[in-house]
Amino acid sequence: MIGKLEGYGLPLGSKSRHISGERFMLVGDAGHLVDPLTGEGIGHAFYSGFIAAEQARDCFEKNDFSEAYMKEYDVRVARVLGSEMKLSYRLQTLMRVVPIVNLLGSIISGNRKFLEVLSRMYNDFDLRGQLVKPFFWIKMFFSKRKS
Ligand SMILES: Cc1cc2nc3c(=O)[nH]c(=O)nc-3n(C[C@H](O)[C@H](O)[C@H](O)COP(=O)(O)OP(=O)(O)OC[C@H]3O[C@@H](n4cnc5c(N)ncnc54)[C@H](O)[C@@H]3O)c2cc1C
Repeated sequence: MIGKLEGYGLPLGSKSRHISGERFMLVGDAGHLVDPLTGEGIGHAFYSGFIAAEQARDCFEKNDFSEAYMKEYDVRVARVLGSEMKLSYRLQTLMRVVPIVNLLGSIISGNRKFLEVLSRMYNDFDLRGQLVKPFFWIKMFFSKRKS
């Protein structure tokens, strides 16, 4: 070792940030675009890279690389990823409350149907949206009682 070991946490998209300015755009991890709930950032890095490429093309066409014009990039990234990130952050915040986690654990354990729903949640964004709705949990709770 020639220096000290250094690290940095995953740059989570827990809050909205400015990810562009005059002559620059931040994509993927550089733009803090990692999903706050799952820690996944590869897909978001691809999306933001794709949007940045289109923005760069537009900048060259208009010969405008100003901070004001680059804001288009922030707007498009927020439109594509913003609601998903907000939802993930809300769920992550919920998961910090120990009694809630324990309650969920007791609902989940032994409930095969619920385990299946949770695994699908990773790919199914609409389903993930259900997780913040009380009615979803009531339904799940009664499905446990029945099983
Ligand atoms: C342990 C771990 C597990 C993960 N698991 C998952 C997972 O299962 N699914 C998922 O979706 N995401 C996962 N992630 C997150 C995911 O890896 C990142 O979000 C994603 O790789 C970000 O892509 P990126 O292109 O923005 O950055 P990176 O993949 O970090 O690419 C940045 C590149 O820039 C290079 N670079 C840095 N500085 C310079 C410089 N000065 N000059 C030239 N090159 C430079 C780096 O070497 C690197 O190759 C995980 C992350 C970690 C740390």
